[in-house]
Amino acid sequence: MQNLLPTVKDAIALDQSDTLSRFREKFIIPQHDGSNALYFTGNSLGLQPKKASEFLQVELEDWATHGVEGHIKARNPWLHYHELFSEGLASIAGAKPSEVVAMNGLTVNLHLLLVSFYRPKGKRTKILCEAKAFPSDRYALLSQIKFHGLDPAENLIEIAPREGEQTLRLEDILSAIEDAGNELATVMIGGVNYYTGQLHNLKEITDAAHKVGAMCGFDLAHGIGNVPFKLHDWEVDFACWCSYKYLNSGPGAVGGLFIHSKHHNVDLPRFEGWWGHDKSSRFEMGPEYKSMGTAESWQLSNAPVLNMAVHKASLEVFEEAGGMDILRERSVRLTCFLEKTVHAVSEITGVNLEILTPSNPDERGCQLSIVAHGYGRELFDAISAKGVVVDWREPAVIRMAPVPLYNSFEDIARFGIILKDALQSKA
Ligand SMILES: *Cc1c(COP(=O)(O)O)cnc(C)c1O
Repeated sequence: MQNLLPTVKDAIALDQSDTLSRFREKFIIPQHDGSNALYFTGNSLGLQPKKASEFLQVELEDWATHGVEGHIKARNPWLHYHELFSEGLASIAGAKPSEVVAMNGLTVNLHLLLVSFYRPKGKRTKILCEAKAFPSDRYALLSQIKFHGLDPAENLIEIAPREGEQTLRLEDILSAIEDAGNELATVMIGGVNYYTGQLHNLKEITDAAHKVGAMCGFDLAHGIGNVPFKLHDWEVDFACWCSYKYLNSGPGAVGGLFIHSKHHNVDLPRFEGWWGHDKSSRFEMGPEYKSMGTAESWQLSNAPVLNMAVHKASLEVFEEAGGMDILRERSVRLTCFLEKTVHAVSEITGVNLEILTPSNPDERGCQLSIVAHGYGRELFDAISAKGVVVDWREPAVIRMAPVPLYNSFEDIARFGIILKDALQSKA
């Protein structure tokens, strides 16, 4: 039996029966020709929470009113501003509040973490990551290896999918870790792959790394705010993320990191600054660093409050929605609906639409990466002209993410019709 393209009417009925649908109202949807664009690039830049400007305004007003005294007298005293994120980020990352901190950008944090968690010694000098890692991650790993005077060609192990396959098999990652054995210093993998959308099994990878005596961390740029994690329980050593993707905190927004509590009060090398200093005596301005004793010890500078005000507005929406497990349930339904829609378009048009992302919901977040075989840039241009916002990679990969906080079943049904029409008009 042929898969039928879901109708807009059926999709609207699905939206109406879902209590999370009302969260869409809390975001500003970009417009196309006077109506809502079909925005599917929350994996690249999440949409603006309507409260963002209000939260930003609070800090601008308090700065105007109090000047430097805003550090103490602002409604959200700036001295402690980063602490406003501990609970929210801990909940989203599956961590203790003392294990997370909002600071810097993602790549900066990755470097700071590698200073502590990549400490090549003797024959244990290697880093293991996925092949075709996000370029910034690869640059960070390679430059860290070089920083220690080692040869990147010999010390970066990159795990690739098997011939003819698009995604990594867990068994291959685990056996590569086992094979590297006591030469492996650190595992650092993108928790959700930015290109294929594959979600890795963080717990199994962490266990395998620990078994051979290596540290294990993850880049959660495409994972945080997308899928639930239990970083503390899984004993992940470290993780970092950005917050402009699924965390909807605006372009270049403050990043974040996780450091497991077992590493907080041991003698790890670290690059230090005054904001990591014990806060009760920070302003005695003493010559010696005294650690906060939490993930905050890795902070260098005082908090970028204007940037963080938007982050605050955004995390409040996650909290209001009831957290990641609730969002994940809707996310799985939306992505399955998109998958079904793509299959239906493929059957109706006869165009081979290959989905690179695993079909098992446990092995993916909300993103699907779709290859339109035989098509090129003109397909992207055609659907863009109809108000569809997706990410396009040559030769013909559409990366798109229905985000549970603001995408609707209706968005997906409308996308299906536009895609079908674009493919048929090319036939
Ligand atoms: C988005 C992304 C980055 C971006 O790094 P910034 O330092 O925030 O510019 C890095 N790594 C991965 C895996 C990403 O998806």
